[in-house]
Amino acid sequence: MEITPPSGLLGPLLLARGAIDRSAQLRGDSRWCERVWTDPATRVVVVGGGQAPVRRSGQEVRLVTVSPAEAPAGERYLLGVDAEGVAYFAVTASPEETAERTVAPLALAALPEGRPVVTGLRQVAALLGDLDAGLLVYAVALEAWHATHEFCPRCGSRTEVRAGGHMRVCPRDGSQHFPRVDPAVIMLVHDGEDRCLLARGPQWQPGRFSVLAGFVEPGESLEHAVVREVAEEVGVRVTDPRYLGSQPWPFPRSLMLGFVARAVSTEFVLDPEEIAEARWFGRAELRCALKSGEVRLPSEVSIARGLIETWYGGPLAGDW
Ligand SMILES: [Zn+2]
Repeated sequence: MEITPPSGLLGPLLLARGAIDRSAQLRGDSRWCERVWTDPATRVVVVGGGQAPVRRSGQEVRLVTVSPAEAPAGERYLLGVDAEGVAYFAVTASPEETAERTVAPLALAALPEGRPVVTGLRQVAALLGDLDAGLLVYAVALEAWHATHEFCPRCGSRTEVRAGGHMRVCPRDGSQHFPRVDPAVIMLVHDGEDRCLLARGPQWQPGRFSVLAGFVEPGESLEHAVVREVAEEVGVRVTDPRYLGSQPWPFPRSLMLGFVARAVSTEFVLDPEEIAEARWFGRAELRCALKSGEVRLPSEVSIARGLIETWYGGPLAGDW
């Protein structure tokens, strides 16, 4: 079964792709899981520390997968089944010595021909096709959750992996724990005319700008979170938040929910803990600032870039 998610109003997002059936009904079927684990056609993504091997062949970059017999002896998570009936698993390996040092995206030319390179999702997502990008996002997200949920939050016992890697169970009190995502709103704020609001975080280099974002709090709707976060971070009041689309951001477990909202005030009162600088940009002004290098935007892997380009009405140059 081919799974093509709706691209939404933001258009295609690089981390919101996936071409496998997640096959949730098979996760608890241990006989099926063991049978496909003996099938050499089954593919295993070996993920460690959020990284996995990829290989370039000409203009194509693919995830390097192995058969179950070749996989290391780490925890095993069922990812699903592709259109040809091939089962996919992720297996955790110890993080490579080559830990992620940069979040800059890789260019095709930076990858050697024919030799596996261990790299991270943010670096390589734009070079992968839908199937491989979806598998890597999924494997990285599951690995990140399991890595921080080894122990029962009730009694502290070491929990055990069940349901094909989609649940952990405490052997002492029987409590069940499921992979979680943290919802975060990310919003393009505009002034109802030609300008949008971009801001720079205190840790970012001068010239780096993006849209505002923040985690949804307990007991709060997404729309309230949009209004609250903008008010807290830059002191601007917004109205009419509208949902545009989402993508997972498994660093370690966010789900970014993209919104557009209209400002009803434009004066800034910055929270210095969160924001070092905020500016209103008209479209022509932003285009010129990107061209001159005065301003740079988050990479195309981010939903932030998608929100800004949707507002602008087309692609923009100038990555972080
Ligand atoms: Zn327990």
